[in-house]
Amino acid sequence: MIAYVSQSAFWGLLISAVEVYKRECFGLLIGYRDRKGPDHRYIIEHAVPYQSAGRRHRTVVNNPRAHRRIERFLQSIPQMSVIGDFHSHTMWGYSRAASSLSDTDLQGMKAENVYLIVSVNDRLREVPWSYNDDGSLSGTTDDHHFRLTAYTVTAAREPRRLAILCPYALGFGARPLRAIL
Ligand SMILES: [Zn+2]
Repeated sequence: MIAYVSQSAFWGLLISAVEVYKRECFGLLIGYRDRKGPDHRYIIEHAVPYQSAGRRHRTVVNNPRAHRRIERFLQSIPQMSVIGDFHSHTMWGYSRAASSLSDTDLQGMKAENVYLIVSVNDRLREVPWSYNDDGSLSGTTDDHHFRLTAYTVTAAREPRRLAILCPYALGFGARPLRAIL
């Protein structure tokens, strides 16, 4: 299974996480599920931060009324629906941000949805954006190191990592090659 992240969603995730760093952000993933073919794909078109989320370090308080308002709004847009949510994990003192799910994260997860963890740490050195063996995507901006990890759960509530596909991110920060004459 694959979680495709559009350019818009990629920036939405990074900007939401940086805005409140080192507190945690929370938001909705908007797009659609593509069940054609053998590969089940989640197409994440937009990542919309919850402005009404109560933010504290390590805990983000969900807001069910705001969630319902957004779902009602999206019913008027046939191609788009809420297909999951995202939140950030940030560094705390000297301990680096985790990319794994906490017990609290697992509790609210539904098998038909996709969930993204945005792990944000202070940048130590520049790292080009690339995919990792566990399916996550990581890289740096000027000040931060990010790792995006996608999850779903099985019907038995076991977490499963999905491979992230974000062609846009791989080109981000790439320096143009010097012409060799
Ligand atoms: Zn979490």
